[in-house]
Amino acid sequence: MQKMKENRHFRILAIIVSLVIILGVLMSANKTVYAASKSIVSISYQTHIQDIGWQDYVCDGTASGTSGQSKRLEAIRIQLASEGIGGGIEYRTHVQDIGWMDWVSDNEVSGTSGHSKRLEAIQVRLTGAAGTAYDVYYRVHVQDIGWMDWAKNGEASGTTGYGYRLEAIEICLVLKGGTSPGVSSWPFVDAYAPSATVDYKAHVQNIGWQNYVSNGALCGTSGQSKRLEAIQIKLENIAGDIEYRTHVQDIGWMDWVSDNEVSGTSGHSKRLEAIQIRLTGAASEKYDIYYCVHVQNRGWMDWCKNGEFAGTVGYGYRMEAIKVILVKKGWPAPAPVENIVSPSSNDQLVYIDGFLDPRSVTPVIVPDPTSLTTLVNKFNAVPAEYVPALVLALSSKGCYIRPEAAEAWNLMRTACRTATGSTLYICSGYRSYTTQKSSFDDAIATKGVVRAISKYAYPGRSEHQLGLALDVATTATKTISGSFLTTPAGAWMAAHAHEYGFILRYPSGKENITGYAFEAWHFRYVGVEPATAMYINGQTLEEYLG
Ligand SMILES: [Zn+2]
Repeated sequence: MQKMKENRHFRILAIIVSLVIILGVLMSANKTVYAASKSIVSISYQTHIQDIGWQDYVCDGTASGTSGQSKRLEAIRIQLASEGIGGGIEYRTHVQDIGWMDWVSDNEVSGTSGHSKRLEAIQVRLTGAAGTAYDVYYRVHVQDIGWMDWAKNGEASGTTGYGYRLEAIEICLVLKGGTSPGVSSWPFVDAYAPSATVDYKAHVQNIGWQNYVSNGALCGTSGQSKRLEAIQIKLENIAGDIEYRTHVQDIGWMDWVSDNEVSGTSGHSKRLEAIQIRLTGAASEKYDIYYCVHVQNRGWMDWCKNGEFAGTVGYGYRMEAIKVILVKKGWPAPAPVENIVSPSSNDQLVYIDGFLDPRSVTPVIVPDPTSLTTLVNKFNAVPAEYVPALVLALSSKGCYIRPEAAEAWNLMRTACRTATGSTLYICSGYRSYTTQKSSFDDAIATKGVVRAISKYAYPGRSEHQLGLALDVATTATKTISGSFLTTPAGAWMAAHAHEYGFILRYPSGKENITGYAFEAWHFRYVGVEPATAMYINGQTLEEYLG
């Protein structure tokens, strides 16, 4: 009985001792590199810094160098204290104007001193038994980037080809196969390596499949009111996949597809309205995928990333263009896309006597010519075939104008007659593309280029094609005149036209903004609120629309 009791005590004691030992082993295995390595193996290093010289040795993950002082590392020494284990350490640096230097080992100098050359990248590796028992991890602080991700066991850390200096370094040991001290996606970037790209193309209304574009270039159209109908997206020079799905008119969200499969429809005249794009596998560890879309009535929307939803649903708005770009993990998002639809190729603009020759301009086709504030000028054109709804204007030379403008015209004419006794008269209202073409061609031929480009609109770029422009005189003269604004009716118009929704479209002193010489007779209907705002602020339509 006594024997059994002792035996049991012994067994309990043995179990407790075993537990303590197991716990100890588990704890030491779980310990961080710093504690573990200090007790057995330690790594220490010193750097030579611009304007400072050699710093003191630090060890086991402590930073050597400076940050926020814009000082380059010029050289480094690294040594391993590995008593009882054996083995050593080797390293080499990539130096400005020199490139990769030869490998050195065990506290030899790598880099230069007295030559004002920056270190740009480094490789470090263990040798012998130390290399069997430990992984060596290191990361560098790089000019304009900050701390890069951790590299290990001879991988490159830093950059090459960018001219960025190393400013600081941390090096530490981890028991073989242990956890990395931090993220290790991007320890190194080589400017000359073939870069990963994302290529994409779209099927566009009335155009069909366009050619591939890459890395943030515009895909689709801008300012042409054409819907995207389908899209294909693929990756190059990188492992991993890209997946995407689109929201299609009358269908809704389609299934996810990947790697250059078609998302959307063709031959069904259905618009893409929204899209989601995401990376998988290795690509998703190294990159974020950003994308932004140009949406009807909205313009360019903000960048979205990694599966976020871009576009609109429930508004019936078409996507007209898209940009897609890969951004390295942790690097800044792309700059916002300017919400401006700019002409596509206007680098050869011709000015004569200060006036832009419209023949040198590639105009944008305005997205909605029916809008009362549609901007039509030398840069913004109406589709040639566009004809607005029209009514015959009263008190006119048989002119047709938009019904909204006609209603305002009647109110304004009555008010002007009451105030001044003069009756307003329209010499010209709606003019078709064809009429405008004859008019412009005739002016070039008979009046000379300067007079033609300063007074006559190019076909498609006349406000008269909108049905919203009136060339105004009085029934007393029935002809346009540069002195109209000095007559009682003209002076009244100058002060009151905005109350009826009209603006003097080509005022004196704004020629460089409107592109036209002063016209005392040309008024444009935009609606009371916009007209009043422009009148109060002394703005042209260009300035008002920004
Ligand atoms: Zn006119």
